[in-house]
Amino acid sequence: MSLVDLLIRQALLQSERTAVFSGATPYASYRQWAARSAGLAQVMRHAGLEPGDRVLLFIRNHPRYLEVLWAAWWAGLVVVPVNAKLHSREVEWIADNAQARWAFVTSDVAPTPLAGLERQIDIESVEADALFVPVHDAMTVPVTPRELGDLAWLFYTSGTTGRPKGVMLTHRNLITMGLTYFVDVDLVSNTDTIVYGAPMSHGAGLYAIPHVMAGARHAVPASGGVDPVELFALGHAIGPLSTFAAPTIVKRLVDHAQDHGISAEDSARSFKTIVYGGAPMYLTDIQRALRVMGSRFVQIYGQGETPMVATALSRQQLGDTSHTRYLERLASVGVAQTPVQVRVTNEDGQDLPLGTVGEVLVKGDTVMTGYWRDPPASALAIRDGWLFTGDVGCLDGDGFLTLKDRSKDLIISGGSNIYPREVEEALLTFPGIAEVAVVGAPNPEWGEVVVAFVVLQAGVHLQQSELDQHCLAQIARFKRPKHYYFINSLPKNNYGKVLKTSLRETAHLTATVKSCASS
Ligand code: AMP
Repeated sequence: MSLVDLLIRQALLQSERTAVFSGATPYASYRQWAARSAGLAQVMRHAGLEPGDRVLLFIRNHPRYLEVLWAAWWAGLVVVPVNAKLHSREVEWIADNAQARWAFVTSDVAPTPLAGLERQIDIESVEADALFVPVHDAMTVPVTPRELGDLAWLFYTSGTTGRPKGVMLTHRNLITMGLTYFVDVDLVSNTDTIVYGAPMSHGAGLYAIPHVMAGARHAVPASGGVDPVELFALGHAIGPLSTFAAPTIVKRLVDHAQDHGISAEDSARSFKTIVYGGAPMYLTDIQRALRVMGSRFVQIYGQGETPMVATALSRQQLGDTSHTRYLERLASVGVAQTPVQVRVTNEDGQDLPLGTVGEVLVKGDTVMTGYWRDPPASALAIRDGWLFTGDVGCLDGDGFLTLKDRSKDLIISGGSNIYPREVEEALLTFPGIAEVAVVGAPNPEWGEVVVAFVVLQAGVHLQQSELDQHCLAQIARFKRPKHYYFINSLPKNNYGKVLKTSLRETAHLTATVKSCASS
């Protein structure tokens, strides 16, 4: 059993239904998709690629992404999808680390040949047209046998703390992740459509798996990215879309709906379900999202090491406004998803009392088998079968997990722990603030002090003293930022996550020259 069986099943069951759309234009039926993937698999095996070999995908979102994924699995290979915004030097590092043999690219992201690969194929080239030739009958192309425990996807972490690591994900990990979607995230029918706005190298691409399981439709926007105008129109044209989006992308969709007077009913014509996760969603933002776009949100918390599956906050929980702890739940990441257990422990792995903040641990069939060629890091990350996520949070009596921060983002000032997220939540309740990120800056007296990077809404002017007063009214005195940087936008990676490392560097560099607010 492997991921290939999912596609074969749909190719048999509903062979002529459109499976893939390029924008609003039908691109391939399930039969054509399987036939192209099988054809490419045959080419790769004939060219000498062996089961378990790695192929790199350095491609912007594209309908052929799906064909390459399943072709690789058909041929028994392991995919290494990488972020299309990486620098070619970074990709070469990953290709070398993964010992990838071939790379599939688009020329916009890889204009020049990458070093160290045997073959690089531009999926939009004439060369590729010859490789993606559909076989007459996909069922005649043997699937290279794979066990559930075999490697399917090497998922390189974003490397915010040093070099990226290759998370080893097996067919079992990904099939479990796919099945979990139906229990903890959403029911899917074959008339539903998943749209790939966020990068397919990450969570959005992983969600292709449950949507193949359900025989649903897959749409790649013509722009290959998130353009709210395009997505709202695409949903109207081909039926309501489901999508995975980081909170920053959700915000752009909500802004668009609000600015253009699109009602919640109209939003429902464009979007069935918006799954958000990958970074903190602030209370004020999700409240506005629910108000503007209606009840179509589900939150997931996961990480590459347990892809898309740690906890989830369901549509029903997000809408249960009469619950006595509704706001706490809204600010949480929900409860453990069905195939995993979640604990909060101290550094020694001992359980902490409810409500006490500690490291989040996850155990279950979605958890990676380890990091590629890195036994020491694997042994540190997985102990007694438990994944140490590096995230810090606490559980309540009903099993709801509230994340505080990544442990490395914690600020220690004068010996007290400060969770940036709490300060960020407080600042975001001040009118006129569009976005905010809080980090620690070195300070000779306190060890670290809190500094805030603030993006103001257009036309808004603020004094540092106003924010200072606001914080004094909301949070403990020692938690309030000692300095504010007013900037035009927060630095973010391709997945929409705020790059706190780069903010810390800025804060570090200027810590000595900027004056701090008096304590
Ligand atoms: P990645 O491995 O790139 O997917 O990043 C995973 C990290 O993103 C997690 O370890 C968390 O720190 C963060 N993250 C993921 N989902 C959420 C969420 N729903 N809320 C807050 N942070 C999240």
